[in-house]
Amino acid sequence: MAKKERQHTMGPIGECICPKCELRIMHRQGVPCQQERCPACGTKMLRVGSDDFQLWVNKQRQKPVQ
Ligand SMILES: [Zn+2]
Repeated sequence: MAKKERQHTMGPIGECICPKCELRIMHRQGVPCQQERCPACGTKMLRVGSDDFQLWVNKQRQKPVQ
């Protein structure tokens, strides 16, 4: 069983994204994105590149285009 190594492309500087309005803000060191609130709509932010972010991206892709 091969161990899959995770590629960490997240550097020391990252971004948080709002899953609702897709606004991006700079990730602040020491503050998890999930503790950040979107300045526009108040939704909890996601760390760009995180597992939750990937799930969100996949969800977005599954949305039917109107
Ligand atoms: Zn927002």
